[in-house]
Amino acid sequence: MTVVLTPARATLSALPVPTLQTIPDAVAANVHLVRAATASIIMAVVKADGYGHGAVTVARAAVDAGAEWLGVTEVAEAVALREAGLTVPILSWLNPAGADALLAAAHRIDVAVGSVEELRQLVADAEQPVRVHLHLDTGMARGGCAVEDWAELLRLARRAVTGGRIEIVGVMGHLPRADEADPVANAAAVLRMRQGRDAVLRAGFGPLLVHLAATAGALTDPTTHFGMVRIGAGLVGIDPSETVALVGASRFTASVVHSAGVPAGTAVGYGGTCVMTRATHLSVVGVGYADGIPRQLSAEAGVEIGGRRHPIVGRVSMDQIVVDTGEVSFPRGTAVTLYGPDGGAVPSVQDWARWAETIPHTIVTGIGPRVQRSIA
Ligand SMILES: *Cc1c(COP(=O)(O)O)cnc(C)c1O
Repeated sequence: MTVVLTPARATLSALPVPTLQTIPDAVAANVHLVRAATASIIMAVVKADGYGHGAVTVARAAVDAGAEWLGVTEVAEAVALREAGLTVPILSWLNPAGADALLAAAHRIDVAVGSVEELRQLVADAEQPVRVHLHLDTGMARGGCAVEDWAELLRLARRAVTGGRIEIVGVMGHLPRADEADPVANAAAVLRMRQGRDAVLRAGFGPLLVHLAATAGALTDPTTHFGMVRIGAGLVGIDPSETVALVGASRFTASVVHSAGVPAGTAVGYGGTCVMTRATHLSVVGVGYADGIPRQLSAEAGVEIGGRRHPIVGRVSMDQIVVDTGEVSFPRGTAVTLYGPDGGAVPSVQDWARWAETIPHTIVTGIGPRVQRSIA
């Protein structure tokens, strides 16, 4: 069954429009693979619209498969999950617009606080107790309270709890070597996390939910698991440590919009950077860099058409790519798979990341807004 979420981009056209299909069964399979690696609570991180796969779709699939918590980076994202009917605990930790204390309390959304300043603001705004996770910088210098300021943060938290403004629910850190399958690389962060947690317990707070690991830590290093692991990339099939074969959770398809046979010597695309050395057939596919196709691609890059991999030739345009299909001419309307979990001739997200010299995360979060979304 395919559920169409957004109106067709070209309802008068007979061609299948560029579509990103999210595969909830794959999300579920990935939650089960994480479950096999840890006994800790699983938080499904669905920031950035579920890594481009649809936050609500991914959240529902993950919760149905056993994830107990949800994680996002701003309160508005959490409110959207509540409005979609998700009732499990939700944590919002970055809050670039500031953590809205009233919204958080009203929707029972936990917020992470990583500085004395943030906590002061939250306390000033709170009318009902807000559930707080204290965020310690475990070695990234990218958010979280510096170790030197932790004691002061705890003193302020103590006053705020006594005053009924907040509840301390958890303590979090983040692994700076989140993509390495290496306990030695994680040891310093684990130690800081333990020390930070112990200070919170000594200050009289507890019980505490302690959480440090993201996907790679959860899959490769049990010393990082504590009470909960936060899984984002892993939900959609990306293991940053590249040690566990997870299942890709989306399929990006389009169709051939134009085909032509061309003679040897034909220059393709802007700048004529690619000249065909033999007579061949070219297929134009109606997606380009505005749809998330990386403009920098290695010569290996290709797409699946008719069950075979065919190379992308010439520069990626804003709205088009050109594919060299050799002897075969594919008629207008032929289905093209840009990526998917299918294997064989179908490229994976990881293939695209390699061709573009990036990480798979940027591929899946970069699919443009005019690509239609559907659910498998
Ligand atoms: C994004 C994020 C995660 C999830 O990381 P993945 O490697 O995608 O699983 C976990 N924790 C924090 C603080 C994050 O920002």
